[in-house]
Amino acid sequence: MVDLTILGTASMVPTKQRNVQSFYLEFKGEGMLFDCGEGTQRQMNIAGIARTKIKKIFITHWHGDHVAGLLGLIQTIGNSGYTDTLRVYGPIETKERFDTLMSSTIFENKMNIKVEEINPKDEAVVVETDLYEVTCIPVEHGVPALAYSFHEKPRTRVDMATCKKLGLQEGPQVGKLSRGEPVEHNGKRILPKDVTYTVPGKKIVFIPDTQPCENLIKIAQSADILICESTFANEHKHKAEDFKHMTAEYAARVAADADVQRLLLTHFSQRYPSVDHLVEEARTIFPETEAAFDLQKITL
Ligand SMILES: [Zn+2]
Ligand SMILES: [Zn+2]
Repeated sequence: MVDLTILGTASMVPTKQRNVQSFYLEFKGEGMLFDCGEGTQRQMNIAGIARTKIKKIFITHWHGDHVAGLLGLIQTIGNSGYTDTLRVYGPIETKERFDTLMSSTIFENKMNIKVEEINPKDEAVVVETDLYEVTCIPVEHGVPALAYSFHEKPRTRVDMATCKKLGLQEGPQVGKLSRGEPVEHNGKRILPKDVTYTVPGKKIVFIPDTQPCENLIKIAQSADILICESTFANEHKHKAEDFKHMTAEYAARVAADADVQRLLLTHFSQRYPSVDHLVEEARTIFPETEAAFDLQKITL
């Protein structure tokens, strides 16, 4: 299961209803944060998320609404007896900006932090484990910026009904088959492919501030959930173009072209007290659209 908590859905400025951007994803007990806008720590308190669960932070770009919460968060984690290595990933210039941020207050860092800069030409793997993969791709926002994808690896499951037909009960032999090893049973050789099937892993994609570009469709391909910025409604399309942002309709086109299951719009301009019209504009192109809201929890 992948647990996703939306911590902030505002663009630039926090409002009464929306904090600035951050998304928390938890998978098999490991916490990952995608962006860390101002106020993210408090949002985590309200959502009931322990900060020390965070093992990796992925930064999309260094505009303040995406990173201004980093310093406080890292100080808190550092003061809590954290013994893991915190890994921070981001686009080019991340190392220099991170060091500047860390030296901007009086703070003795007691924990191990590894910062990695990524400058991919195309979609690239950032982290790969036996269980999941995080990839990124450059997007077009006028500054170095990355979209990220979290993709759970496919899992092999044993079909017990088929096993029973072959006379196999739960036990060491079924265990072997689930690990991809053939077994001998009643003088017959049983291959893993005879009794197993593959469950595809869940895919969640985060598209930050950007203008429309081909890379968005590439990284979002077949995602279960696409979380995509949609700063502007159609009435302010010219602003989206001037400031290298998306409209809700652009986000919907990406969702449709990438064949995703569900689109969550986010990063809303504070000029919209209600974002219902952005959702309506997107739904004309991609019906499975909703507006993300702060503290929303989704389990996949
Ligand atoms: Zn932003
Ligand atoms: Zn930005």
